[in-house]
Parts: sequence; C-alpha cells; structure tokens
Amino acid sequence: MVENSRSRQIKFHFGDSVPLEMHKVRIVQKLSLPPVEDRFKAISEAGNNTFLLNNRDVFLDMLTDSGVNAMSDRQLAAMMVADDSYAGSETFCRLEKKTREIFNKKLFLPTHQGRACENILARTLVNAGSVVPMNYHFTTTKAHIVENGGTVEEVYIDEALEVDSNHPFKGNMDLEKLKNIIKINGAEKIPFIRIEAGTNLIGGQPVSLANMRGVRKLCDQYGIMIVFDASLLADNLYFIKTREKECQEMSIREITQEISNLTDIIYFSARKLGNARGGGICTNNEQVYLQMRELLPLYEGFLTYGGMSVREMEAIAVGLDETMDEDMINQGPQFIAFMVEELQKKGVPVVTPAGGLGCHIDAMRFLDHLAQTEYPAGSLAAALYLVSGIRGMERGTLSEQRDEAGNETLSNMELLRLAMPRRVFTLSQVKYAIDRIGWLYENRQLIGGLSFTEEPRVLRFFFGKLQTRSDWQLKLIDKFKNDFGDSL
Ligand SMILES: *Cc1c(COP(=O)(O)O)cnc(C)c1O
Repeated sequence: MVENSRSRQIKFHFGDSVPLEMHKVRIVQKLSLPPVEDRFKAISEAGNNTFLLNNRDVFLDMLTDSGVNAMSDRQLAAMMVADDSYAGSETFCRLEKKTREIFNKKLFLPTHQGRACENILARTLVNAGSVVPMNYHFTTTKAHIVENGGTVEEVYIDEALEVDSNHPFKGNMDLEKLKNIIKINGAEKIPFIRIEAGTNLIGGQPVSLANMRGVRKLCDQYGIMIVFDASLLADNLYFIKTREKECQEMSIREITQEISNLTDIIYFSARKLGNARGGGICTNNEQVYLQMRELLPLYEGFLTYGGMSVREMEAIAVGLDETMDEDMINQGPQFIAFMVEELQKKGVPVVTPAGGLGCHIDAMRFLDHLAQTEYPAGSLAAALYLVSGIRGMERGTLSEQRDEAGNETLSNMELLRLAMPRRVFTLSQVKYAIDRIGWLYENRQLIGGLSFTEEPRVLRFFFGKLQTRSDWQLKLIDKFKNDFGDSL
C-alpha cells in the first residue's frame, strides 16, 4: 500500500479516520433509486450498455468526472457578473489573468473543451511521419495525432500496466525508453513530447515532479518541446504533495509553478480542471501561439471566448483558483482511496495504488470465469447497475475496435471504472457502492457474458447494444431478492 502523508486529514479518536468533507452542501438534487425490476428493464432497453441508460434511471452516476463536478458558491456567484461581448470581454481578461498567475505563461487561447485544444495542437505541430512520445495515450489525443499523419509512442514504466502495484507514480515516463525513441526516430521527427497529468486510461495515476525534471533534461539536450495535458492536474498535484518527499513543504501553487516552468505548452479540459466546462492552451512560445491562433476562429470562435459561454469562463477562472487549495483537491483522492481500501478488505480486485479520477475494478480477476471476448468489464458494468442503480464505465475489450480482418483486439486490462465526480457524493453513498460491489463479488459466479446485437464499426462502446449470453441476469435478480428482501 502506498502511504499518502495525509497531513490535512482530520484524525478521529474512535476507530479509523474517514475522509471528512471540507465543504457543506447548499444546493441539492433529488436522486431516485428505481426497484430492481425497473433497473432490469432499463439496462435491457439500453442494450446492456451503461452509456445508453437515461440518467433518470440511475441512482449514483459514476460514468465520468467530465463536466459533472460540483461548483462552489463563489463559482456560481462569478457566473452572474459575466461580461457578455463577442470581443474583448472583461470575463476573458479575468480568465487570461488567472491562467497567467497560475501557470506563469503569458499567452492564452480559449477553447470549447480539452479535445479542441488537441485538434489545434495537432494541426499546428503534427505532420505526416511525426512521432509523439507520451507517458500514455488518451483516446482523443491519439485520434488527433493519427488524423494528422503522426504516430504515438507510449513510454510508460513497467509498473504502469500492473493492476496491483505499490508504485506511487505509475504515470511516470521511462527515461531510457524515451531516449531510445528519440535516437531511433531522430529529434526532428518529434514535434513534442506529451506528458499527461493523472494518467487517465491507466487509472488516474500520477506523474512525479522528479520524473518531469528528467524529461525536461532530455528534451533540452535534443531541443524538443514538452506539451503538458493538465486536464487531471488537480489529483496529480495532491499526489505530488502527499507522495513526493521533497514537495511536502511546498504549497500547491508552488508545485504548479514548478511543473509549469518545465513545460512549453499546457492545455486542459476545464470539464475536469476548474470544475466547469471549457478548455484552454497556455504558452510563452510566441511563434507557436501565432500559428495556433489562426485556427481558433475556424474551429472554436473568436479569440476572447473560444466557443465557451462567458459564464463558464468566469466559473473556470474561480475554479482554477480553488484548485490551488489543498482542502479542495484532496476530497476526490481521499474518497477514492477510502473506496479502494474498503474493497480490498472484501477481497475485491482493484487497481492499486488508488489514483485520482475514480476507483477501478479489475474485471479480469473479478470475472475470471469469463473470456475477454465475452466482455467481462462490460458484463460487470451491467451487473453492478442491476444490483445497485450505479452507473460505471467499461474500459476494456468492448472499448477497443476490431482489426481489419474483423478479429477482436483484446485490451491490456479489463476495468470497470467508477468515477468520483469531485465534491458530488457523500461518504454514505460511497459506502453503499462498496456494499453492493462487495455483494456482487460474493455472487460473481452468477455473472455471465455479453454478445453484440448491434455493433458499430467505430466507437462501439458509445452506441453498441448487447445481449446476455444466458439468463444470468434473472438468476442474479433472484439471488438479490433473496438476500435483500424488500430493499431496493
Ligand atoms: C477528458 C480528457 C481530455 C479531453 O477533454 P474533453 O474536455 O473531454 O474534450 C483530454 N485529456 C485528458 C487526460 C482527459 O482526461
């Protein structure tokens, strides 16, 4: 187990300390938990694909952390004083000023969301034959690089793909592999090296400041730029502060500046960083800035709004400021660590150490009686919804695409991701999730596989529909009713 130094976690006198919310809830949204029969109907109609469920049928929505984080009173207040104008609004000036203050980069381009930054970056910097090394790919990033004729080279450390590990920074780059990639391809083929904070697809795993310094050194040697994807920076900052010895005395602001000064370009999805909806690119490189700026009116909007509403821009400016507060960014990682530790006590296989973003369940081991071609992570997502009303996301073979010959591409990992939108759930809701997952684990032999009834060629995990390979869901409902009686 990785020991986080929880300097700011409040200690309890009786029993184990639990994460304590450092905020109070002043606006609430009513939830409903439909009975198990209704959930069966809903998941059947959704083709056993949690993406196709209607939110009205969902109790706890753990599909994603994107655009669904709780806003603060200060963010909502700021939205009311937004200055609406096509060009040169006060709102833009405030947001630009805030990004300069936090990232220490003088040039800022607003975009409508994270992947829009990737489109602009790739169109500006990636050509046919370009090679872009990165700690791990992200779906939309890779798509934009490939679209522009480039390829992605992942240079993760060996521990990155170990589900059960105690490495505190599984998002680190392997510097030896990186050096080799540069030597083999030649620096002129490499427009930039991309480092992703809180590496999304391997379970929200952080990269260390020390590792970033190492990457910078190599890049300086070869004259290569570093592009930093800061979408999941909030969680990563918390892990640097608590897991990296030399940073424990530094403030979150200081750590952010250190990271920032190691990079040439920073971009982010404000659906995650800043708890609102939008995005942006920050840099000191005037030449690249001017090239990127030409694309903004084409794909985003005028330079002072980039496709965002001014209200969201105000919310982002305040949200970025609040991200510099440890009491605000610790809540997600502490809740996730609690969930991971409690599930481990029940023997449930989970990705360790606990990362940011969410809790990731290892469906390969959870359902080791299923073949990958029966989509264990997809089956587990459907089964969990059935017994709890909780919506998670499949991250496994179902999320891959068949090869040209029509064969399955088996995924490295079969994960059920249970995202933890920031400051949205209470600890008792997390405990409910742990309880139902634990029950499902005890009854895992009842869970069967899935097969497609409608299989789109691309992005099949978004739109595809599946059926159960037997009547296993009816048997699961019988057992559920037997154990829980009248309870929903
Ligand atoms: C979500 C995400 C993106 C894309 O951002 P959107 O706002 O969803 O377009 C890019 N990189 C990472 C690491 C992300 O998590």
